[in-house]
Amino acid sequence: MAIDTINGCIGCGTCVQTCPTDVIRLDPTSGKAVITYPADCQICHLCRLYCPVDAITITPEKSIPVIVSWG
Ligand code: SF4
Ligand code: SF4
Repeated sequence: MAIDTINGCIGCGTCVQTCPTDVIRLDPTSGKAVITYPADCQICHLCRLYCPVDAITITPEKSIPVIVSWG
């Protein structure tokens, strides 16, 4: 696993829009972000960097940002 936890989410949806591999979804009931497909995480850190309330934690052993190119 790469993306680790989401705590304190305010449901803005930014991480859902920024994740290139659709790891995160907004729960329709709670309205908060949930890690739905953790195996697809590419450790790009975009979700963590763009979260306005710093709610996302990436597993420390894999905390070196990887530069990826999409499209
Ligand atoms: S680190 Fe990148 S690939 Fe992983 S959940 Fe966040 S935005 Fe998606
Ligand atoms: S960017 Fe942060 S506050 Fe916004 S939905 Fe994702 S985890 Fe929640």
